[in-house]
Amino acid sequence: MDHGSQGCDLMSYFIGMDMGGTWIRAAIGTEEGTILKKVTAPVDPLADNTSILKQLEKLIIEVSGESLQEIKGIGIAAAGKLDIKKSTIVFSPHTSIRSLSLEPLQERLKKPVTLLNDGVAAALAEWRLGAGMGHDNIIYVGIGTGIGGGIVVDGHLLMGKEGNAHEIGHMIIDAGGAIECDCGGRGHWEAYTSGSGLPRLSRLLAQSFVGRTQFLDRSLRGRVEAREVFDYARNGDKFALCVVREATRLNAIAMANLVNLYDPSLISVGGGVAIKNVEFVVSPLQSYVERFSFNSPPKIVPSPLGEDAPLLGAILSTFVIQF
Ligand SMILES: [Zn+2]
Repeated sequence: MDHGSQGCDLMSYFIGMDMGGTWIRAAIGTEEGTILKKVTAPVDPLADNTSILKQLEKLIIEVSGESLQEIKGIGIAAAGKLDIKKSTIVFSPHTSIRSLSLEPLQERLKKPVTLLNDGVAAALAEWRLGAGMGHDNIIYVGIGTGIGGGIVVDGHLLMGKEGNAHEIGHMIIDAGGAIECDCGGRGHWEAYTSGSGLPRLSRLLAQSFVGRTQFLDRSLRGRVEAREVFDYARNGDKFALCVVREATRLNAIAMANLVNLYDPSLISVGGGVAIKNVEFVVSPLQSYVERFSFNSPPKIVPSPLGEDAPLLGAILSTFVIQF
């Protein structure tokens, strides 16, 4: 019996990176979407392009270890405005990144680098490996530091002319524009209910709330953290619960707009804020979206891939997407 040739086959490995507003994650994985090792580093909000490229290279080397030679490709999922044809992150509202070309990374490591939006990457992973398996029409919504998304329609992952299809976080949900977004626009979805938006929504609602609660006092005194909204809500603070209800209503309005635009059979909700607070952020959405949407409502579920969705999508992008 000859088992020789099978045992000598080299495995193919792929690197996926997720460049969010708070963390950079890197993972090494296989074609089947199995993550073998993962490393995480904080985003330096003041870093220049040279030091960001150095940090990316360091993370790639760290996560690949002795397998660097076997790496077939590097997929980078990034938040912000991209030009995927030029492999460039043009602008990222939650970091210092401005016109960051990833070509030097490709040249230094001598590996193909694929760039795509982090929400699009997460949608790809959700469709191929997560809740969207077997569906032809899905929407991924990531509620984290900002809000991003990706959309599959009739079995096609939508990209846009420069890779910026579905910057859903900058959808206008408040025509009055009471809150300014980090991008400079007013009334944008992520300025109200993302991790960076919830403190602003709390401050806005605090002005008109009748009654007194601990979280109301905190919100009136200064900037609160998004995490506190949920901590106080869990303890029954009436003002925190009011903020959570309003955030749900706004999330549902935005999602109903997406349902009317794309007619999905499934919406998967991921991102740190949603995944850590499923009972407040995801569970109440179904009935709200049903009330607001014209099209028949999709099933709304928390992402089973959790915070790994953009990472897995970045890995898949190295061999699934043809640009
Ligand atoms: Zn915006």
